[in-house]
Amino acid sequence: MSDIVTRFAPSPTGYLHLGTVYSALFTENAAREAGGRFLIRIEDTDQGRCRQEFEDQLIDDLKWLGLEWEEPIRRQSEHLDDYQDALMKLREQGLLYPCFCTRKEIMDEIEAAGMAPHGPDGPVYPGTCKILTPAEREKRISDGVAFAERLDVNAAVEMTGTLTWHDRAKGTITAHPERFGDGIIARKDGLPSYHLAVTWDDHIQGVTLVTRGEDLFDATDIHRLLQAVLGLNTPDYHHHKLLLDPDGRRLAKRDKDVNIKSLRDAGKTPKDIKIMAGWDIDA
Ligand code: GLU
Repeated sequence: MSDIVTRFAPSPTGYLHLGTVYSALFTENAAREAGGRFLIRIEDTDQGRCRQEFEDQLIDDLKWLGLEWEEPIRRQSEHLDDYQDALMKLREQGLLYPCFCTRKEIMDEIEAAGMAPHGPDGPVYPGTCKILTPAEREKRISDGVAFAERLDVNAAVEMTGTLTWHDRAKGTITAHPERFGDGIIARKDGLPSYHLAVTWDDHIQGVTLVTRGEDLFDATDIHRLLQAVLGLNTPDYHHHKLLLDPDGRRLAKRDKDVNIKSLRDAGKTPKDIKIMAGWDIDA
């Protein structure tokens, strides 16, 4: 067995659709081709959006499609304490600051500034809370104002210097995470953001090859920076193409005609689904 470890990491916020099936098959195949290990991780820290029903259906669909993975499946919601270690490491280095802004305040500020650069998490944070004095921060915290924690991306980049990562499709990439601003690392409910959870879990699970859709290509710059400041190994990456509908739009979980449950109910076979997902079934 080689040391290649891949993972398929869906968020159960809707039914599995053809696009995510492609990703799952791509990921399983990358492990199988290399004689490595294939893992599944359920990314369910956003408990407002994730549903057990979607998770159960997703697992059932993957089995039905014939995928085989190594048990146990890791569920992020069952390991919330693990992320506290990562948060501590970042706090100790002075790389996090509290952000008291509401979504509306951020949007108003961006509008007033008349600029709206976007990153993987939407509009780039204008830095409102970064300039608060320690006394202002303490006052708001003791007043009980809810706060998220953001990464001081410039301080982190200054600490690490220029970083690179490798994509199997695109080669060596120089990371520029600073263009996306200070992203949220811990949310107001104390739960880790996607960026922290994914980076920490890939480390904990010993993932050596991250395969996922091109839509997450930019986010990898942030993950690379987090790996550097947390002292973690950097996996290899392979961002794959996204499936598009005939109008060239990305497939969405809410589209009934592409969700696997509906297609199964309509009598499609696993082979039909693989063909619809554009997967070479002999691969
Ligand atoms: N959970 C993420 C999603 O559903 C994917 C995470 C990843 O592969 O890094 O989009």
